[in-house]
Amino acid sequence: MSPWQLLVLALLLLGGCSAAPRPHQPTFVVFPGDLRSNLTDMQLAEEYLYRYGYTRVAEMNSKVSLGRALRLLQQNLALPETGELDSTTLDAMRAPRCGVPDMGGFQTFEGDLKWNHHNITYWIQNYSEDLPKQVIEDAFARAFAAWSEVTPLTFTRLRSEDVKDARDVDIVIRFGVKEHGDGYPFDGKDGLLAHAFPPGPGIQGDAHFDDDELWSLGKGVVVPTRFGNADGAACHFPFTFQGRSYTACTADGRSDGQLWCSTTADYDTDRQFGFCPSERLYTQHGNDNGKPCVFPFTFEGRSYSACTTDGRSDGYRWCATTANYDQDKLYGFCPTRADSTVTGGNSPGELCTFPFVFLGEEYTACTREGRRDGRLWCATTSNFDRDKKWGFCPDQGYSLFLVAAHEIGHALGLDHTSVPEALMYPMYRFTEDPPLHEDDVKGIQHLYGPRPKPEPRPPTTTTAEPQPTDPPAICPTGPPTVHPSERPTAGPTGPPSAGPTGPPSAGPTGPPTAGPTGPPTASPSTTSTVLLDPAEDACKVNIFDAIAEIGDHLHFFKNGRYWRLSEGRGPRVQGPFLISDTWPALPLKLDSAFEDPLTKKVFFFSGRQVWVYTGSSVLGPRRLDKLGLGPDVAEVTGALPRGGGKALLFSRQRFWRFDVKTQTVEPRSVRSVDQVFGVPLDTHDIFQYREKAYFCQDRFYWRVCFRNDNEVNQVDQVGYVNFDILQCP
Ligand SMILES: [Zn+2]
Ligand SMILES: [Zn+2]
Repeated sequence: MSPWQLLVLALLLLGGCSAAPRPHQPTFVVFPGDLRSNLTDMQLAEEYLYRYGYTRVAEMNSKVSLGRALRLLQQNLALPETGELDSTTLDAMRAPRCGVPDMGGFQTFEGDLKWNHHNITYWIQNYSEDLPKQVIEDAFARAFAAWSEVTPLTFTRLRSEDVKDARDVDIVIRFGVKEHGDGYPFDGKDGLLAHAFPPGPGIQGDAHFDDDELWSLGKGVVVPTRFGNADGAACHFPFTFQGRSYTACTADGRSDGQLWCSTTADYDTDRQFGFCPSERLYTQHGNDNGKPCVFPFTFEGRSYSACTTDGRSDGYRWCATTANYDQDKLYGFCPTRADSTVTGGNSPGELCTFPFVFLGEEYTACTREGRRDGRLWCATTSNFDRDKKWGFCPDQGYSLFLVAAHEIGHALGLDHTSVPEALMYPMYRFTEDPPLHEDDVKGIQHLYGPRPKPEPRPPTTTTAEPQPTDPPAICPTGPPTVHPSERPTAGPTGPPSAGPTGPPSAGPTGPPTAGPTGPPTASPSTTSTVLLDPAEDACKVNIFDAIAEIGDHLHFFKNGRYWRLSEGRGPRVQGPFLISDTWPALPLKLDSAFEDPLTKKVFFFSGRQVWVYTGSSVLGPRRLDKLGLGPDVAEVTGALPRGGGKALLFSRQRFWRFDVKTQTVEPRSVRSVDQVFGVPLDTHDIFQYREKAYFCQDRFYWRVCFRNDNEVNQVDQVGYVNFDILQCP
């Protein structure tokens, strides 16, 4: 019997198994948009052998022979060389791998196979939404560093603002799906993960990553939390809560519907938690300062109780931030929910809808039912039978670091290897060990030679290369890595225009029982604010006009009144007091204030005016022009005293260094806030408190461990002004 006949027999047997399911066997369905499950094994094999170059190479040697092509494949992947489509070979063909052909290379293989210079530049052109931006940048930096450690090559990341022409960049890194512009389409979730082109100009040297994959660090979705008591740590999936296991954020145990997760494996024991990215906490971009969604809201006369993609053609989920979009036109984009956002299928990027109906049954969690490959999936509307909308549930994901390190190998000129332990082996394999095998090192040093030995003398100046391995400077307390200011890569642009189809129903609302009870990290409220009029409770103020540390107390200003935060015994929040009783020259509404620690002068800003109090004597009001701030500065939105007679004055996205003695800003000191502080755009109420800088947006603050203004200063805490600073109950 020839291998061919064996193969046909095997296929017949396999085919016979699935054609007519017996009653007690599971029912398999054809999932719309699921390319690979529709392929027979034979079709899979033919496509695979062709795509990765085996058929063409086998063809060159003799007439087309499947056996010969299979044998080549088995050689290359270090599988038993049977020349047959056996189960080991089929499994290998279904396994995730790199898209670069094993044989014959890309058709565009031209030019040099190595770089003729050693200072290589790279540019991350866009970002996957699966991971926080910094995590992606760090993964690439580490991947490049793996290669620079063993070669004389250096790698410098160019920022988008520095890239005038993509052709000036050696290695352009891009995420894309399906056909993404180079004629080598990706294939949806799994299968082909990424590909890269060998060194050279233009697209040569570039690396592309399939964004239908779930990108992670190889161990499941990375969901940074906010608030809670775990300092922004990432969710730990799975975690246990009241004896039940959770693989995604949940609202269980809460009556307010807020999604939360445990940041350790066992909430019941450790009680560490944070809140998951959620449209109930905030939205991104849009036109209403990141305010949370209002549900239900009306759009085109319909009522929506969840984020929707209706009215948009780009698939971004949005919501109104007031009850009526048609009337108010205020909206924001809903934050990515990596823990339950589906990949692949026919609605990638949407959220699982629980419960959903499949073949008449109701499902409250992801299921493997209906699939031959046993992968977990969910419906993205409440009824799969009716809508046929679905996707794969988040799994471990693929390590962006490992896949990037592999693709960079190609971008530097390496081919695939048949050593299964090597990084340049074509199949994906997760490891936490250093990625390079001696086979990889041998390969790359064959092209570029080893890393030059450091000169013996000065250990600090051996090479002047950039250090892409350095993690970003981070304050001690583990910052949350997501900012609402970060734009989605492809970037939603305009507001939703119009569009048909009905809204999916909302997810389950968890029954309130135990569990974390509120965003506050505070101890229970022994805070007895003595107030005659509860309407004037500082805790009822949503957004303060200004906040400033004056005379060791934090002051909260709102509409002619102010409260004082006392750190000693007794009532923590004192007030309200009348601004006019203490500083009679001031208007009702302030924009910002600060006290110079040296001279104890207190600067108050309102609109284009400034007042300077020294004790009870006042200078002003004067116009901002006197300070050197021209008419383009409509207001001073915040101020940070810096010691040494200096302060920083903020106006929206800009800030200046201010000399307290001369009472003028240094003319050339203007900088952009986002260059120096990792905080959202459009912050207001910028103040200093206990030597840290606070940037407020809406009811939240971003705390920055502020070292100096020559480096990006990282956020080390995000919280509620009311709950976390004022310690409101
Ligand atoms: Zn590869
Ligand atoms: Zn590509």
